[in-house]
Amino acid sequence: MIKGELLYEGKAKSVFRTDNPGELLIYFKDDATALNGEKHGIIEGKGIINNKLSEFFFKQLKDRGVKSHFVEKIGEREMIVKKLDMIKLEVVVRNIVAGSLVKRLGLEEGTQLPVPVVEYYYKSDELGDPMLNRYHIMALDLAKIDELNQMEHVAFSVNTILRDLLRAKNVDLIDFKLEFGRLDGEVILADEISPDNCRFWDTVTHEKLDKDRFRQDLGGVEEAYQEMLKRLTL
Ligand code: ADP
Ligand code: UDP
Repeated sequence: MIKGELLYEGKAKSVFRTDNPGELLIYFKDDATALNGEKHGIIEGKGIINNKLSEFFFKQLKDRGVKSHFVEKIGEREMIVKKLDMIKLEVVVRNIVAGSLVKRLGLEEGTQLPVPVVEYYYKSDELGDPMLNRYHIMALDLAKIDELNQMEHVAFSVNTILRDLLRAKNVDLIDFKLEFGRLDGEVILADEISPDNCRFWDTVTHEKLDKDRFRQDLGGVEEAYQEMLKRLTL
């Protein structure tokens, strides 16, 4: 596998071409941002852990019938994925109230939602990732209705699968963000699944084991990522 030209330098990952035009190489960095890019820092070893955890989650999902872009992990920080035509949306699923929902709906952090809630955000740094509904998405032609339905179906499947997997490790899945892309007329799960884009709480102590430790300056950031890796893969 030849690492080709840098295609895109993201906030947490870099994306390279490979010698296969249908595949890309994703390099996981230790860089972390929050507050729409205003806060920047390094979480030592995060790239290695997020690569391992993403591999773990994508494989578990595949075993349960959920396809993703994941092809192969080829290095500590490097993963080969199928090259997709990315949909400029962030699909968020919530089980328990946290983060932006606390302010927006005036609910207390930790409140169990009676049904999982799905939200869409426009992936646009210039606009600060505004929340969209299905009509905005269709008006902006970001995705077609059947693509939205496919994404929502996969998002709820991922929720059920991850929730069960994590529950067995004494971790509650509070919420998470997914990204999707198109390949041959199909919508496929992409990007990463890690403590960077999920909220994980210890079931008993409710200790936060995710990027909120960085966002909220709680300390023990590296340790939280390591703990998630240990619980899931060791
Ligand atoms: P950001 O773009 O928010 O800074 P990252 O640092 O995570 O995010 O960069 C990774 C980029 O790679 C994202 O823009 C993501 O949409 C894109 N990406 C993820 N998976 C694929 C894929 N399979 N094909 C093409 N692009 C992808
Ligand atoms: N999230 C993400 N990237 C973003 C915004 C949110 O991965 O740009 C994830 C976040 O980790 C959480 C979920 O999406 O698991 C819901 O986040 P929320 O809307 O509460 O955002 P925040 O509190 O980060 O503003």
